[in-house]
Amino acid sequence: MSWQENLRSVEPYVAGEQPKLDEMIKLNTNENPYPPSPKIRELLADFDTDRLRLYPNPNADELRSELAIYYGLEPEQIFIGNGSDEVLSLAFLAFFNGAKPLLMPDISYSFYPVYCELYGIINKKVPLTENFQLKATDYFQENAGIVFANPNAPTGIPVGLDFIEEILQHNLESIVLVDEAYIDFSGPTATALPLLKKYDNLVVTRTFSKSRSLAGIRLGLAFGDPLAIARLYDVKNSFNSYPIDSLAQLVGLASLKDNNYYEKNLAKLVSTREKFKQDLHQLGFEQLDSQANFVFAHHPNISAQQLFEILYAEKIIVRHWNAPRIYDWLRITIGTDEEMMRLIEFLKEFLE
Ligand code: PMP
Repeated sequence: MSWQENLRSVEPYVAGEQPKLDEMIKLNTNENPYPPSPKIRELLADFDTDRLRLYPNPNADELRSELAIYYGLEPEQIFIGNGSDEVLSLAFLAFFNGAKPLLMPDISYSFYPVYCELYGIINKKVPLTENFQLKATDYFQENAGIVFANPNAPTGIPVGLDFIEEILQHNLESIVLVDEAYIDFSGPTATALPLLKKYDNLVVTRTFSKSRSLAGIRLGLAFGDPLAIARLYDVKNSFNSYPIDSLAQLVGLASLKDNNYYEKNLAKLVSTREKFKQDLHQLGFEQLDSQANFVFAHHPNISAQQLFEILYAEKIIVRHWNAPRIYDWLRITIGTDEEMMRLIEFLKEFLE
């Protein structure tokens, strides 16, 4: 027997490309086009590098306390991880250990099936309706857990609190994990966080990557019942005691001290999105009513693959999946007004 036979072979998640083209318009990984708070620049300029000799606080306690104040929760209800991808990965490992299948939409964040494959979690993909909507009754079936993104990715379509509550009520013996990576773009009342008071089987994940412009620092959160969160920390501490480095902890704290700045950018981005949706409509695109920082669209006269390639040649990078049901759609991240205008102007010329 050779050592090669003992290697684990998995098909990993493939993130959107991070190309280094001059003057490109990068609309492929849902990053925020605006810089993070200027308070973070000040923090980094004054940072005492001696601190890097020491290990960081293993559970980012100070950041955890500040987050508890900001969200009106107890620190014991909050988990902090190295980006929400890691939080989700640890959550899958900690929560989905039943014998029945984990339920997830057939079109959703494509990392979920990758975690299932890695950990050997049996799962069942529940088809979205023809209009790419989730249907609550589809989740009234045997399961060892439920996961979905709200708003969903890559569609951008949100579900309401009634929908989430219906799913929670019908699944009191499972953890229902709601991935709120894009919730800040959906308005302040869209979050499932208020339901934490009523349902101990709810877990919500969040990220600093999108609305807080901090994809590079890797900060993700989970909110849930103290027991679920404690188990999540146990799993994390069986894997890596110090995933959140000292700098990330300080940057997270600085970001929380400048909420006005990030809320201003959020409002700007949402207004750019709504204008972009109108412009796409005028050009004959079919699109879903996204409440995220991206739009999912397709044009009846040109294949998505072809349009992706034409845009790429123009140094405008968007996201395309060669996957069932969505191969004819493109996901376009919302950038600055100028970036979206350049894209629309190019499309206008190209489609005419
Ligand atoms: N959930 C969804 C639905 C996402 O699209 C992303 C970003 N790719 C993530 C979670 C992870 O984001 P991060 O790891 O940057 O927090």
